[in-house]
Amino acid sequence: MRQITILGSTGSIGVNTLDVIARHSDRYQVYALTANQAVERMLSQIQQFTPKFAVIVDHMAAHQLELLIKNLNQNQNVTIDTQILAGSDALCEVASAEAVTDVMAAIVGAAGLLPTLSAAYTGKKILLANKEALVMTGELMMDAVRDNNASLLPIDSEHNAIFQCMPSDSERQTVSNRSGVKKIILTGSGGPFRTTPVKDLENITPDEACAHPNWDMGRKISVDSATLMNKGLELIEACYLFNTTPDKVEIVIHPQSVVHSMVQYVDGSVLAQLGNPDMRTPIAHALAWPERIASGVEPLNLLEIAALEFEKPNDQKFPCLGLAREAILAGSFYTVSLNAANEVAVEQFLREKIGFTNIAEVISHVQKTITFDDIEVTVQSILAADAKSRQLAEYYIKQLIS
Ligand code: NAD
Ligand code: MG
Repeated sequence: MRQITILGSTGSIGVNTLDVIARHSDRYQVYALTANQAVERMLSQIQQFTPKFAVIVDHMAAHQLELLIKNLNQNQNVTIDTQILAGSDALCEVASAEAVTDVMAAIVGAAGLLPTLSAAYTGKKILLANKEALVMTGELMMDAVRDNNASLLPIDSEHNAIFQCMPSDSERQTVSNRSGVKKIILTGSGGPFRTTPVKDLENITPDEACAHPNWDMGRKISVDSATLMNKGLELIEACYLFNTTPDKVEIVIHPQSVVHSMVQYVDGSVLAQLGNPDMRTPIAHALAWPERIASGVEPLNLLEIAALEFEKPNDQKFPCLGLAREAILAGSFYTVSLNAANEVAVEQFLREKIGFTNIAEVISHVQKTITFDDIEVTVQSILAADAKSRQLAEYYIKQLIS
């Protein structure tokens, strides 16, 4: 029986993970669930999965959840004995607890970094959806996984596809002569504005940006998909996961989102992983790896899909992709500032404080202005770089809207 902690259980990935787990209660037991604030959803998840712990980061919301449970226990013929914890330190506790075997890292943004790292330091099997954590700490995270006998399985559909198409021997999962892998082909849908004229991008609303044509996701990643920053973050993610460089990763727009990514070998073979766009496939794959389990996903009907199209991304229209490429070449602190500036800008866009095209402008400003001392890459120096970048982004936005 695997004991799993789900970081970010109330989000899109969290809910999909619980859907797969519910189909396999003979294999997985939920040890802990975590959320930022979502009390109602957490309560119903607790009732269904009876975890040992539930963490709500927000103290007020955690207190509210405790009261709700107390009431239920008094007024109904049930006993909910899940222990409720509050605050962000508790996230690290439930990610590193001795009883835990697997950790689904599905918190959005930099907030997921420390709990994910603590799972790596304690040798867990990590199912990584939280790409921002890897973009921020790249080598540090991969080293922590290797040095502590942890394992890291990608949940991002593209990276999960690449993982499935790579040689199975972990020593050869990289672009090299030894593996025979020539390059990685990372696909992306192109987002909701693939065919929108450039002049119309300025007036896009948050709801329009979050209406993705193929995937149903949280709001932050939906905006990232619309700006193509998601593909930029995924490029960085691929470089760290498969120990390669951006020139070995080709980005191809594929509007149908059926081919989730590909690996090209030196003999001319291209291996692809296909499937309906439903995150339960990569989640089930990573949960059961190296075995396979049912995920609840509809089988792919190629005759219905009929045609698969591929095109080049438009770097002029979507400057975030270029910014991500530059960041990875500039060095690890610049991927931290790229991510931080993006998180700040996307949040302000979702709050309707800045426009859609301002997102790339804010990131570009931060990347041009920021400088970093030549210091060692540690968790502390990364968190300091993150804080400094957020300040710069916030200051620039203040000027922009005043
Ligand atoms: P979401 O917004 O739906 O859910 C985020 C979860 O994180 C929620 O449970 C929320 O309570 C929690 N959370 C938010 N802020 C927090 C904080 N400060 N502290 C602690 N917990 C916090 O997001 P999502 O779409 O599920 O995405 C989660 C991660 O997975 C992101 O990094 C995203 O890039 C990645 N991802 C998502 C998808 C997808 O299909 N949704 C696909 C690939 C990768
Ligand atoms: Mg993806």
